[in-house]
Amino acid sequence: MRRRIAVVGSGPAGLTFARVLHRHGHPVAVFERDPAPDARPPGGTLDLQEALGQLALDKAGLLAEFRALSRPEGQAMRILDTEGTVLRDWRPRPEDRANPEIDRGQLRDLLLGPLGVQWGRGVSRVVPGADGVLVHFEDGRQDTFDLVVGADGAWSRVRPAVSSVTPHYTGVTSIETSLDDVDTRHPGLARLIGDGSLAVYGVNRALVAQRNSGGHVKVYAQFRAPLDGHRDLDPDPADAEAVRSRLLALFDGWADPVLDLIRRGDTFVHRPLHVLPVSHTWAHVPGVTLLGDAAHLMPPLGAGANLAMLEGAELAESVATGSQDLDETVRAFEERMWARAGRWAEITTAGLERLVGPDPAEALALFDQVQPS
Ligand SMILES: Cc1cc2nc3c(=O)[nH]c(=O)nc-3n(C[C@H](O)[C@H](O)[C@H](O)COP(=O)(O)OP(=O)(O)OC[C@H]3O[C@@H](n4cnc5c(N)ncnc54)[C@H](O)[C@@H]3O)c2cc1C
Repeated sequence: MRRRIAVVGSGPAGLTFARVLHRHGHPVAVFERDPAPDARPPGGTLDLQEALGQLALDKAGLLAEFRALSRPEGQAMRILDTEGTVLRDWRPRPEDRANPEIDRGQLRDLLLGPLGVQWGRGVSRVVPGADGVLVHFEDGRQDTFDLVVGADGAWSRVRPAVSSVTPHYTGVTSIETSLDDVDTRHPGLARLIGDGSLAVYGVNRALVAQRNSGGHVKVYAQFRAPLDGHRDLDPDPADAEAVRSRLLALFDGWADPVLDLIRRGDTFVHRPLHVLPVSHTWAHVPGVTLLGDAAHLMPPLGAGANLAMLEGAELAESVATGSQDLDETVRAFEERMWARAGRWAEITTAGLERLVGPDPAEALALFDQVQPS
């Protein structure tokens, strides 16, 4: 008998899970709180690693389409010191497909394909019971499933059914801004950034710019600060001029062309970086599990979406093709997920300490370790 399966959240984890189940002809209900796919800006670019995100897309039968959409040249990485001197200028070889970049919106549309997501169906809580798992929706409705997969991100509403742990602040805040039509409107900055990413590391702060498709650039100003410390300084976070002035003061003394990344930014979005504890696990609860950020939120250093997608693909494949009992399948999956995510959480946690830390030489050393010339 086919089991009733629901996934909560249509991010990289939930959509990959649903798409791989769909490929195997297994029905799945996808519930998403956003009222429509384009209800919010989709966010910046993602690099998908060969052994993680790309492997997941292969399991979904979408690797060729990904290759056609992605930007291998976006793997380029330039590092400057705060005076504007180029310290590293790494460019991929033409055949290098290790970490090509793709816009989040493009990835979402690729994964969505024929899936029938139920938009505007926020979940408020899930309650496991003897006859299945009861899902309560924000609109007051309820439904029961044999398996509920929480792929609902950092502030998951499914997570409390298996774990009482909540994310904590890392001490690092990121303020995000964007530049549009960079090649025509800001050609100097376009040349500075190059084809991929530009990073400048100072003492306890960093500026990172990443090229997306269509001449769009996302800029992240990262620094150590108390949680919500900005509220005293910027009573109105929507006041772009006030946030820009405060950022320019914070990065005072950095080279002028680098500061242009802040000066030319339009709106500013405040993102204090939160994480779950490294090696977050839970006592297995029949009928409920978690994927992606809901299970192992970690610093945004190129692993989160990759892990989320591979987990989604692996769980779906095991559910659709495994001969084991559903609960045993999920239990085995969780063990595998915890081991792998724990290793990445350690790497990214140590990475954040070095990239936004007291010694900029540590950031450079980390880059050289990951990307030997
Ligand atoms: C600036 C930045 C850059 C990053 N760059 C990279 C990168 O290059 N590579 C990489 O691998 N990772 C990167 N990451 C990390 C990556 O974005 C996340 O790890 C990834 O999005 C996690 O996917 P997810 O599906 O688990 O959760 P999410 O992407 O957060 O998706 C969760 C979904 O659930 C929905 N939802 C939430 N609550 C509910 C609810 N109660 N009911 C129904 N739906 C709900 C949300 O609306 C959302 O659609 C980056 C992160 C940031 C912040």
